[in-house]
Amino acid sequence: MRETPNWATPAAHITRHTPDTALLYFAPTALQATARRFQAGFDGLVTYAVKANPGEEVLANLVAAGIRAFDVASPREMYAVRAVCADAVLHYNNPVRSPEEVAVARALGVASYSVDCLRELDKLAGVPRGTEMSVRLALPVKGAAYDFGEKFGVDPARAAELLREVAARGFTPSITFHPGTQCADPQAWGAYVAAAADVARAAGVRIARLNVGGGFASHREGDAPDLEAIFAHIRDEVARCFGPETPALVCEPGRAMVADAFTLATRVKALREGGAVFLNDGVYGGLTEARDIGAPGRIRVIGPDGTMRRGADVPRVVFGPTCDSIDRLPDPLPLPGDMAEGDYVLFHGMGAYSRSLTTRFNGYGVGDPVTVAALE
Ligand SMILES: *Cc1c(COP(=O)(O)O)cnc(C)c1O
Repeated sequence: MRETPNWATPAAHITRHTPDTALLYFAPTALQATARRFQAGFDGLVTYAVKANPGEEVLANLVAAGIRAFDVASPREMYAVRAVCADAVLHYNNPVRSPEEVAVARALGVASYSVDCLRELDKLAGVPRGTEMSVRLALPVKGAAYDFGEKFGVDPARAAELLREVAARGFTPSITFHPGTQCADPQAWGAYVAAAADVARAAGVRIARLNVGGGFASHREGDAPDLEAIFAHIRDEVARCFGPETPALVCEPGRAMVADAFTLATRVKALREGGAVFLNDGVYGGLTEARDIGAPGRIRVIGPDGTMRRGADVPRVVFGPTCDSIDRLPDPLPLPGDMAEGDYVLFHGMGAYSRSLTTRFNGYGVGDPVTVAALE
């Protein structure tokens, strides 16, 4: 394994170095344990959605844990994956591509493409016959933090037409969907699985694989979803809906794979009368997502000497460090009444869509990850 933990815990590093920039602490053992849990429980191929966190240390540890296939959206993500795993299988599941991007994908031997309209299928005319083309299906689904169906995917009727066209052109026909980021409700997969079976039937096409997307997470609320229950529901629904034509399964978690392997450590720059707090990171850094889907839920505060602040929580307005008035969390956060300037506010479960979205606006941003043996 490439990453040797240098520190036992974030607190051990903080008490020694009192870092004054926001940092992510990374526990490779936590990441590998999640990857193994997916591979042991999910009844098909487990791939990783690179956009959630494309860090080299993340990709390398997933490879070490046995992940060999990756959902990529751009040439840069393809190169990042191949740099840590020369024979990695690439699934190019961004259904909108420029001709130049298609050329890179062909040169790198992408194994699977998603498509959601005929025009995009036309752009893939030069891809070798037999390559998998996975039709991206969209349903209106409630229960996820974002509705991915708003941007990509086709309705069932047009999905059936496209699937027929994929087969007629000599590609391997498959279906893919994404129930929505942070989706943790097994029923969301059930509805999609049933719709996918109807699409295949309507098209008169037997699909090779069904890609059930990402989701699998509800980390902001702090209660981890029951992954095994979701896996079992998917398996049962696929068997029930497809019967003897049951396709092989693929999943592509991003957030659920990587979120719990990282803790974001921010520092209190100022405490104001009335309780407002200024941190050294905010919505232009590791807390970007807070604006769209709410603030993270699992928080603890420690002093520079590692002491846990245990005072009763009070609701505090939280500002980021930049000189921009929108750099504040949308709602007050419950934080200890006895916290002080110079303390550290640790946000757990911050491995996804944090570092990959951080900017350097106003000279702030999140530093390179520090490797730890355990996050608590
Ligand atoms: C973003 C994305 C994922 C991962 O989504 P999570 O909600 O992070 O699991 C999976 N598949 C596709 C096609 C995506 O765009």
